[in-house]
Order: sequence, then structure tokens, then C-alpha cells
Amino acid sequence: MYLVLFGPPGAGKGTQAKRLEAAYHLVQLSTGDMLRAEVASGSTLGIKVKDIMKAGELVPDALIVDMISGRIDAADAKAGFILDGFPRTIPQARALDAMLEGKGLKLNRVIELRADDEAMVERITGRFSCVSCGANYHEKFNPTKVAGVCDACGGARFDRRADDTAETVRARLQAYHDQTAPLISYFEKKGNLLSIDGMAAIDDVTRQLREVLD
Ligand code: AMP
Repeated sequence: MYLVLFGPPGAGKGTQAKRLEAAYHLVQLSTGDMLRAEVASGSTLGIKVKDIMKAGELVPDALIVDMISGRIDAADAKAGFILDGFPRTIPQARALDAMLEGKGLKLNRVIELRADDEAMVERITGRFSCVSCGANYHEKFNPTKVAGVCDACGGARFDRRADDTAETVRARLQAYHDQTAPLISYFEKKGNLLSIDGMAAIDDVTRQLREVLD
């Protein structure tokens, strides 16, 4: 199965992609995670994109398309994947079409998670994760059971994404409305778009996704 999950920052793409990955034996391909890994490693690509990401702007299409086309070819993606955070612009969507066509593949579904901007600011600015195991938390909606201790691994060090500040979230939302939202009509015309309410509780969103995909 080949899926695209898209929606504004904070809509739950990463969380839902991880659940679908486990349920359907797919691999989650998150361009945001890949770019963060490049930044952390100090690679040439990481150096190029660091400030763009910190400002909440989109990385140039050519860099993203290059990065994802290599990743789609990897052995673990052969059985199916969930694209999380890609495509984010019309040129990226066209490049994806061409990439898949060249490999004789077709997207099964493109799923939009709909969400309100104000709620996304609250969701994003409150989130943090465990440095040791990567478990995700939220100050208000999903705190650790014991303050300062990771439920999953007992770790005591937590981190926040550099672009999860209120100011950067607003820039990311703006980029979403200006450059990514036009994909809704692009995929509608192709006839494989599904829209799901991302404001619902996490388990309800998963249930809706599974109903559609089963
Ligand atoms: P995400 O983890 O999906 O929220 O992405 C974090 C940041 O990485 C975005 O704000 C962009 O700066 C960059 N990014 C991730 N995916 C893309 C993409 N498909 N096109 C352009 N920039 C991207």
C-alpha cells in the first residue's frame, strides 16, 4: 500500500503514520524526520536547511525531491510506505507522480487531516519528547505519569523541536496555507483524496483511518 498523509503542522501526521506503520507493515517516510537527522549530523544538506527549518519555511523542492527519491528506492520501502510531510507543494506532487510512474507504482490513498490553526499552536508548543527513546508527550494533553520521568524508558532528559515555538508555528501554518493547501484540489482532481477530522481524539482518528484502509 502506498499512502500520503498531509495536513497542517500539529494535525497528527507523525502520530498516525507511526500507528499505520505498525498496523499495515508499512514504512513511515517523514521528510521532516529525515531533515532533522541531516541537521543533527551536520551534513552539507543539514547545514543548508537548518535556518530554513528554524524559520518555519519550506526547504527548496529540488533538495526534498532528491532526498525522498533515494529513500523510496530503499529495500524497506518496497513493501509499501506512508509519506508523512511530502509532498508539500504542487511541484513536489508532480515530482512524486513522475517518480512513482517510473517505478510502475500508484498511490492508493492521499489522506488529509483537517485541523484548526489555533488548536495546532497549542498542540505544537506543548509537545516534547524523551531524548533516550523518542517517546512523545504533551504538557497538557499527554503528560508523563511521573513529572520528569519518561513512561516508556524511565529517561529523565527531554527535548523540544527547535521549530516548535509559537512564532515559528505561525510561519509553518502560513507556509501550509500558501503552499500545501493547494494540494487538496490537486489530489481531488485525481480522485484519490480522503479528508479526515484531525481535531478528533488520537484513537478516533486512527479508527477512522483504519476503517478507510481496511
Ligand atoms: P515536519 O516535521 O513535517 O513538520 O517538517 C519540519 C520542517 O521541515 C518544515 O517546516 C520544513 O522546513 C521542512 N520540510 C519537511 N518536509 C518538507 C517538504 N516536503 N518540503 C519542504 N520542506 C519540508
